[in-house]
Amino acid sequence: MTQIQGIGVGRGIATGPVLTMPEPLSEPVVAPRTRDAADEKQLVLDALHAVAADLAERAKLAGGDAQAVLEAQAMMAQDPGLIEGVDERIDEGSTGERAVFDAFEAYREMLVGLGGYMAERAADLSDVSQRIVAHLRGVPAPGVPESDTPFILVARDLAPADTALLDLERVLALVTVEGGPTSHTAILARSRSIPAVVGVESAGSLSDGTVVIVDAASGTITVEPTAADLDAAETRTAELQKIASAPITDGALADGHAVPLLANLGKPSEAKAAVELGAEGVGLFRTEFLFLGSTSAPTVAQQREAYTELLSAFPGKKVVVRALDAGSDKPLAFLNDAEEENPALGLRGLRALRAKEDILREQLTALAEAQAATSADLWVMAPMVADAEEAEYFVSLAKELGIRVAGVMAEVPSLALMAPEVTAVSDFVSIGTNDLTQYTLAADRLLGSVANYQDPWHPAVLRLIKLLGDAGRAAGKPVGVCGEAAADPALAVVLVGLGVTTLSMTPAALADVRAELARTTLEQATARAAAALRTSTAAAARSAAASVD
Ligand code: PEP
Ligand code: MG
Repeated sequence: MTQIQGIGVGRGIATGPVLTMPEPLSEPVVAPRTRDAADEKQLVLDALHAVAADLAERAKLAGGDAQAVLEAQAMMAQDPGLIEGVDERIDEGSTGERAVFDAFEAYREMLVGLGGYMAERAADLSDVSQRIVAHLRGVPAPGVPESDTPFILVARDLAPADTALLDLERVLALVTVEGGPTSHTAILARSRSIPAVVGVESAGSLSDGTVVIVDAASGTITVEPTAADLDAAETRTAELQKIASAPITDGALADGHAVPLLANLGKPSEAKAAVELGAEGVGLFRTEFLFLGSTSAPTVAQQREAYTELLSAFPGKKVVVRALDAGSDKPLAFLNDAEEENPALGLRGLRALRAKEDILREQLTALAEAQAATSADLWVMAPMVADAEEAEYFVSLAKELGIRVAGVMAEVPSLALMAPEVTAVSDFVSIGTNDLTQYTLAADRLLGSVANYQDPWHPAVLRLIKLLGDAGRAAGKPVGVCGEAAADPALAVVLVGLGVTTLSMTPAALADVRAELARTTLEQATARAAAALRTSTAAAARSAAASVD
């Protein structure tokens, strides 16, 4: 038995055999063709048909949003213009593989040049090209491997396209070499309750069929477990099942101290499932997700309709909506038009909205109209706010346009350092621990090589949260957390101990966090927070908090 360590996502545990996702294919070499042109063209045509048929079949199985993406990919594989491009290159002496690679690449560049929606299809085209080349080589297509029996998926990282089809009956857990706790894989794993350990450098050495235990709570992978390890894993699984089926109550500590548990949502259609899982409202509605594909700003009417649908799902409940957070990992063509060397440090969030104030005014107007049309308690907040001056700008504009409660997200360390001034002008603060961690540790949250820095347990992050909690308490203003940190049950307790008043998370995490809060008193939460604050590394903070009874 050996153990390898990574960053755990969630609290789940799973046991099963490893199945590795194939590495992306190497680029086909430029070499003279050995078969005659007609034979080569026929081989390519057969591969194109086979890939198109496979994608069409997957589309049928997938349903929903994924179906349209896969159907479009099936059509790409049979696009006459592309086939012509491949044939021309074969006539010029190219191998079939290279001709496919070059023809798709030329088409891809053209799509990127068109920008907007077409540019977003470029990655889908590369995936089709890889599938055809794999077919010609007789190797497995890139993407999630297929198996009739359940398995633990080991991959370098997962692309959104890989995850669209992830079969939860088969995939017991995810282990990735790259990715941090806020990577796409981690967010997906949390939202679908799949145990995951990310950032496991040596995961590539696990061979297919090896039995492992993936324990997300400790971030460990036990290779070839002993009978005692297997028994312990089974006991934990039973405990977790008990938590998942426990009655739904409002979030509260063991001594009755209320900690409302809210949901992070990206679409109004996600509201129903959140309510069923016991969300007491919404703590973060990411409005930019509604408009990621748009090249022009959405109209007031379009926005009013979406916001009214959302608010109607929460009568009398709190719903915190975030103004468009465009830029960096979520660019919106109509807000981010400049080329930037470091977009995470650029004109993003409130900065981009302030530069195009008409768009912000329209969004706030649409929100105020939805507020008037429903009985939900709408709160509106701005993303990426740097200081009290920016907070005041946003809050006063929101009030001018009829928003009753307006606040800011704490994602930039400068805002936390100015917490007393900020809470003086803002109705509330919501801490976005994903970005707050990225900026405090100066580590790109999307970059696998620095994933180990993206850890909200770092005492530097906890100390900033304490500044916000203290300032909120002194000013009598609520301070919530809506980053991924709120979904980590042990950290959720520490956050409450630091003065956080509400926790917002992916709905799938609500049961675990609710259970952990229910077995901890405020006195214990405060003691755990104090112990974590005294440490100097994330790992030490975790164990210091865990060692307080
Ligand atoms: C955050 O930064 O923690 C946050 C909640 O916002 P997002 O993940 O959308 O950047
Ligand atoms: Mg953020």
